[in-house]
Amino acid sequence: ARERSAVSTDRLTNEQLFERAQRVIPGGVNSPVRAFRAVGGTPRFITRAAGAFMWDAEDKRYIDYIGSWGPMILGHGHPAVLEAVQRAVTEGLSFGAPTEREIQLAETIVDLVPGIEQVRLVSSGTEAAMSAIRLARGATGRSKLIKFEGCYHGHADALLVKAGSGLATFGHPTSAGVPPEVVQHTLVLEYNNIEQLEAAFAQHGAALACVMIEPIAGNMNFVRAAMPFMKRLRELCTQHGALLVFDEVMTGFRVALGGAQSVYAAAIPGFAPDISVFGKVIGGGMPLAAFGTSKAIMQHLAPLGAVYQAGTLSGNPVATACGLATLTEIAKPGFFAALAARTRSLVDGLQQAARAADVPLAVDSEGGMFGFFFAAELPQHYNAVMATDKARFNRFFHAMLDRGVYLAPALYEAGFVSAAHTADDIAATIAAAREAFAA
Ligand code: PLP
Repeated sequence: ARERSAVSTDRLTNEQLFERAQRVIPGGVNSPVRAFRAVGGTPRFITRAAGAFMWDAEDKRYIDYIGSWGPMILGHGHPAVLEAVQRAVTEGLSFGAPTEREIQLAETIVDLVPGIEQVRLVSSGTEAAMSAIRLARGATGRSKLIKFEGCYHGHADALLVKAGSGLATFGHPTSAGVPPEVVQHTLVLEYNNIEQLEAAFAQHGAALACVMIEPIAGNMNFVRAAMPFMKRLRELCTQHGALLVFDEVMTGFRVALGGAQSVYAAAIPGFAPDISVFGKVIGGGMPLAAFGTSKAIMQHLAPLGAVYQAGTLSGNPVATACGLATLTEIAKPGFFAALAARTRSLVDGLQQAARAADVPLAVDSEGGMFGFFFAAELPQHYNAVMATDKARFNRFFHAMLDRGVYLAPALYEAGFVSAAHTADDIAATIAAAREAFAA
């Protein structure tokens, strides 16, 4: 310990910090993607952030397109958010008893998302997704569920599963430590594949508690569920009495104020999921997530019903203050139109820069979320994403990082623009990309 404290008074490089971290933290990180394994190289240890920028241990500045993997939609250190958090901190860090702010946050979510009548607050997206599935199973009295390859719903055992061989077979665990019996009820299908979906419902429809989906998948870069696919999914769920669970941990309050479901509702008359799962933006950078649905379904939750769910820090007073302040800002008129236009200007600029260097690049964005692929066309499912040019992505990632642009360190992750990113920041990013593509 003496040795360590002697070391910590010196200013360490990213490399030295990474070495030190690996001694006491597995892989040197507290969440695997931060270790840069997919792209190689040394993770940057961040010391501070403001607006659209982050600084690393060597005081190098980066334009941040990760935004803590989604929550920082206002940019870092937004004054209204900081003020709300500071006030909340002085009032108490945690009570383990109900507070008015939890009601306000629940009311705000209920107001912003049609179809949600009640929500339960939790502390992480993993918890929210896991609880939503338990609720769906408890409410339907059924066990089986469908998920889609390439969608990530956190690390609950039943969801760490990949497709088995052959059509519509039950999955295999993607993690050691998950017994095969735990995922035996999880059916894994290809995203955007209507044929597989119909076959799965034909075979298992009566036993399906729910179908969980990222409506715009942000964990295989950026892949939209096509409208005809989503329409058919909704029809099949209704027809067979399975609940449609939208995992909007990433897309909620990010692609639009009403989340991805508002995008689908605009195109498919009467469309709504049955259960919605939120995280990231609703906490504004603090640990907070939620799941919600109709009052009738939520009545199954303890203390009213038989589906158990709980949390020591659920509805934490500092996290709810942070989330409320964030939602207040993003609900202001014109916020999403401006964010969407800025994000679109980024991906359009990247595509033009790539074209000028004869590099095939497919791009997409919705609201403040975006994706780009080293491919001629936008992939429609996980295997197509993973078939895009990884070597090229990795070279591009490092070329951009060297030039002070921090993109997600894996080709299967989406990117995020915040309201703090200015037109100049976007222009600087595109200029860096032009150099990177040329190189
Ligand atoms: N669902 C989706 C769509 C996510 O993107 C994530 C995290 O990235 C999760 C669930 C899990 O959330 P958390 O990391 O807060 O547990």
